[in-house]
Amino acid sequence: MDRDRLIEHLKFAAELGVGGVSRDPVWRARPDVPVLRQAQDERASAGPGETPLVVSSSNHEVTFSKNAAEALAAVRADIGDCTRCKLHTMGRTQVVFGVGNPDADLMFVGEAPGADEDIKGIPFVGRAGQLLTDIIEKGLQIPRQDVYIANVIKCRPPGNRNPEPDEVETCEPFLFQQIDIIKPKVIVALGKFGAQTLLRTLEPISRLRGRVYDYRGAKLIPTFHPAYLLRNPSSKREVWEDMKLVRELLKSEI
Ligand code: URA
Repeated sequence: MDRDRLIEHLKFAAELGVGGVSRDPVWRARPDVPVLRQAQDERASAGPGETPLVVSSSNHEVTFSKNAAEALAAVRADIGDCTRCKLHTMGRTQVVFGVGNPDADLMFVGEAPGADEDIKGIPFVGRAGQLLTDIIEKGLQIPRQDVYIANVIKCRPPGNRNPEPDEVETCEPFLFQQIDIIKPKVIVALGKFGAQTLLRTLEPISRLRGRVYDYRGAKLIPTFHPAYLLRNPSSKREVWEDMKLVRELLKSEI
């Protein structure tokens, strides 16, 4: 059902005395209500300034949002104190959702929160995060708060191990929602894991980087992860090349 028809439907329901859509778990638990999923083409047909429609991944909840900030807040609320995958039993402190400008032209996607991020609830705040901040602020000359930063998975894996396929599969829809709401012009995928997950490939990051990919309406640039750069400072030269490409793409009409 498209948005206009849904609005008509809700108005009609209101005339019949239905008070609205409720977040009450009892209301949400009605077994006979179909789950509405946001159709990609509805989003594509929304004009500038139009209200994005966010349909949560929990059953039976439809949320209209006035703007990207509100839509992101709805996704964050939907995630809640997540227990969808095993990571919630493996020592994570909290969900690390994402940080930055909901209307950012530039988005960075990392792998998963580390220890510092798990404590603070903010992505990229440890040593690798400081280097990422320098890349953004000193390299690209953009204040960190003007970009958006998120991870493929939102909870810290124990001992900073790589995320496992079931964890990625459970969590990545939330990243896709973040990307679709923010609609950045450019996405920088940080490191092998971020790039391979987004691009659905097993190619090594050394082969993925240096190219521009079309991804969910954005241009995606894979580059080395800042944690890798801390161990291999000589690779900063390649990252600088990638950031020059980011700058060009941000300036161009895409
Ligand atoms: N590494 C990541 O991939 N993400 C973070 O948030 C921190 C470190």
